[in-house]
Amino acid sequence: MRISPKPWMTAPETRAVMEVLNRDGDMARFVGGCVRSAVLDIPIADVDIATRYTPEKVMELLRDAGIRVVPTGLDHGTVTAVVNHEHFEITTLRLDVETDGRRAVVAFTEDWREDAARRDFTMNAMFLRPDGSIDDPFGGHGDALAGKVRFVGDPTTRIREDVLRILRFFRFHAYYGKGEVDPAGLKACREHAGLIDSLSGERIRVEFLKLLSAPSPVPVLDLMENAGVLQVFLPGPYDLEALLRLIEMDDEAADPVLRLAALAPERNGHAFRASERMRFSNAEAARFHALSVSEPEPGAPSFRPDIYRLGNALFEDAVRLKAARGAISSADAEAMIEASRTWPKPDLPVRGADLVEMGLAAGPSVGEALRRLEAWWIARDFVPDRDACLAETRRMIAEEKT
Ligand code: ATP
Ligand code: MG
Repeated sequence: MRISPKPWMTAPETRAVMEVLNRDGDMARFVGGCVRSAVLDIPIADVDIATRYTPEKVMELLRDAGIRVVPTGLDHGTVTAVVNHEHFEITTLRLDVETDGRRAVVAFTEDWREDAARRDFTMNAMFLRPDGSIDDPFGGHGDALAGKVRFVGDPTTRIREDVLRILRFFRFHAYYGKGEVDPAGLKACREHAGLIDSLSGERIRVEFLKLLSAPSPVPVLDLMENAGVLQVFLPGPYDLEALLRLIEMDDEAADPVLRLAALAPERNGHAFRASERMRFSNAEAARFHALSVSEPEPGAPSFRPDIYRLGNALFEDAVRLKAARGAISSADAEAMIEASRTWPKPDLPVRGADLVEMGLAAGPSVGEALRRLEAWWIARDFVPDRDACLAETRRMIAEEKT
């Protein structure tokens, strides 16, 4: 089997790396996502290379050729070559010697097939040579074109080796699946759903946010709910309708945290606990929480206090979310978003340092005075300028003293 070489394969950076590694024969091939994408003729995310050389040998060969190489994951056999700011992850062929459902002990091998056999799905287990010829031990080429996400080998065995593959099964189906999901894979996922509990939050988050970013994740989420998979790390009830509507009106890039807030409406802190389970970063968790609880009202005389409190971006997202839930009309939502677009949130024109300069003792009273001034400024629709705010501050301090 052969495909016509893609521009990324013949780019000078790629060739520089591949020519060094293949000087003595067929020792390095493209692997994983870039091969799948090449077969499907869609853009690639990054170039992954598999090699029969040990990581040390890869580093030596590349360095001798004047190519920069960084030992990014030596213990699992990965080094990264950098050419003209392009990165290439180069991983020595591996096989699993021990698995416990969460992590694997791996050994290096020189056997392409052994490496392919430990990969998750047939469409992810192909090797591509620089000339465009494909080594496809498990029929991944046909499966990729047919949109069939199929486990390499027996689904139950593969899931017990690494439970994350349950989430990956649905993620890849969301992106590449056509028609019905593979029944054997689905059955094994359903039967082992409970094991997801044993996974680290970090691994769940990465997979699940990628899944949510798929062009149309809703049918797959429905499948996951029916298979009892979703409930294990994200308590229901789910609002698939809201997510559908959000995606319909979403004109920008997929926003997985916003999508999650639509999918899992906050109820007794459930959704928030799920974000803790998935080990969201502080910023992600704060945003998720704000989205889940903020309630800008369409009838308000002014949206500015809400916009000021949330910031423009979060306000607009909270409005989208509300419209997706059907809590406000799309006409109201548009008006509110327009109000935000035409009014960039201002900053209070006075700072703590100004107050200290006026003679206020540094400490909690500064914060207290700033909050009072801010309330006064908001009540005057953010109109008072710096001079007016300073005058008001002086007045407040004088009043305090009497
Ligand atoms: P993308 O990066 O576009 O999401 P990808 O196929 O590169 O897709 P990665 O998660 O980056 O996906 O993994 C790279 C490759 O490593 C996969 O194509 C697959 O062959 C293998 N792989 C990754 N995770 C697993 C896993 N849990 N079990 C088995 N093989 C895996
Ligand atoms: Mg990848």
